[in-house]
Amino acid sequence: MNKNDIEQIIRKEIVEAVMKTQDFLIIGNWKMQKTKQEVKSFLKDIASHDFGQKNKIIIAPPSPYLYLFEEKLRYSNVLYGAQNFYPKESGAFTGEVSVDMLQDFGCKYAIVGHSERRTIFGECNEFISKKVRILIQKNITPILCIGENLNQRKNEDYKHFLATQISEGLQRISQDDVSKVIIAYEPIWAIGTGETASPSQVEELHIYLRKFLVERYGSNIGKDIPLLYGGSVKPSNVKELALAQSVSGFLIGGASLDAKSFIEINNILN
Ligand code: PEP
Repeated sequence: MNKNDIEQIIRKEIVEAVMKTQDFLIIGNWKMQKTKQEVKSFLKDIASHDFGQKNKIIIAPPSPYLYLFEEKLRYSNVLYGAQNFYPKESGAFTGEVSVDMLQDFGCKYAIVGHSERRTIFGECNEFISKKVRILIQKNITPILCIGENLNQRKNEDYKHFLATQISEGLQRISQDDVSKVIIAYEPIWAIGTGETASPSQVEELHIYLRKFLVERYGSNIGKDIPLLYGGSVKPSNVKELALAQSVSGFLIGGASLDAKSFIEINNILN
């Protein structure tokens, strides 16, 4: 047996040990996709599927389909959340959805700060922090997305940019409430492009972010905040990415649209 074979065997054992013991958050972000019929068929496939007890499964569909999730996932341990809302209780905000409405449909999670909301809809850290605050007030878990674009990546300072997205996004909540937030690191250059950050890039960044969280919010809080990775995650690369240090789970766009691949991702992480 040569050195390569031995390394392969050791690696396989490490992979299996990590997969068996670590629980992961697996969150699907459907964006503006699917018809009512497609949603029904997806829900039929997953409502009867046993995802096991280890991982937490969450899906964020377009808001008009939330009623179907409430109806069809009543007896399932799959949870669901919103992709967007407006950070006011109610009022003259034509076209918007409030957090109370999300609660009415049983949402337990909501995505905030997704790069598409930041770049297409001009949402800034200041506005995002208002969304985080109202979610915390209403007992909905914020999934705060952060991420750099390719130009920023070329600049060493991009790590500081990401840390600022976190601290400004969380500026309106108390230190204790920071422990209720999930953070998703999603490099913009890897979202929907098919190009994934390598496991070592993800690991380097997650270690940096973990250190930042511990320094900024204290080790009790900072060490436990879930840190997800997102950006072209699929069944073929999720295993390697899961091995990167400090990865608590994944925010998945494209590969979450197909029930089979979504289930496969959970199987791999089980
Ligand atoms: C996303 O939308 O958050 C995302 C990561 O998309 P994809 O998996 O398609 O890159």
